[in-house]
Amino acid sequence: MTDLNYTIDSLRKEYREIFIQSAEEIKKRVENIRPDNLEGEIFDKFPENSSGKKWQEETLKLLSNDISKEIYRKLNEILAYRTKFNCVGCATCCNLACSEFSPEELKQKAQNGDNFAKQFLSVFVPYNSKEEARKVYPEYIELLEKNKEYDVYFYHCPKLTEDKRCSDYENRPQICRDFPDNPLSILPEACGYKKWKEEVEPVALMLHAMIEIIDFYTIKIKEAS
Ligand code: SF4
Ligand code: SF4
Repeated sequence: MTDLNYTIDSLRKEYREIFIQSAEEIKKRVENIRPDNLEGEIFDKFPENSSGKKWQEETLKLLSNDISKEIYRKLNEILAYRTKFNCVGCATCCNLACSEFSPEELKQKAQNGDNFAKQFLSVFVPYNSKEEARKVYPEYIELLEKNKEYDVYFYHCPKLTEDKRCSDYENRPQICRDFPDNPLSILPEACGYKKWKEEVEPVALMLHAMIEIIDFYTIKIKEAS
């Protein structure tokens, strides 16, 4: 338990540092395409057809083309590397799936065409209470409580047998085959992908930070337009 909490605490600190580094890196690349002799900042309001306006347009292109493509390529590499690791069948991910959405919200999302919500609901049913979920993975529930994350709903798959096997393994849906597709999710200690997560997490954190920063730049530049 102490180790799990320590991991998250240090990860948050690490993320802060990575975020600052990523922001500096992006700022440097934006400054590299600044037109000569232009004064002002990238989020300033510039007149139409000015070099400042052109700089903002080029920055949006840089972010959405070059940098976003680099991020996408690296994310794909991370996922490809995951295939070098294997599930060891601990069944925790079948027995405890978490979502920020309630069953009713998921149903609504599924009706609105959200494919993930549709798949999730085709697999998982909600626990009757948090205490039921706590019996499956107590460290995880404690961790959420410690981080004051109370708006989480807990689910389990009824296709899991008592001896922790999938009763419909050949037909299991894509979300089961893809798990874990995000190295930033919290994995049980016994998970066969834990080592993958540990190895790729620093890069995944950096990519996550870059996506957040790109969103920030995009919104601010559009607001200035
Ligand atoms: S369908 Fe099978 S693999 Fe998917 S969550 Fe249920 S028991 Fe696990
Ligand atoms: S938590 Fe990891 S090792 Fe356990 S069943 Fe899920 S993918 Fe497999």
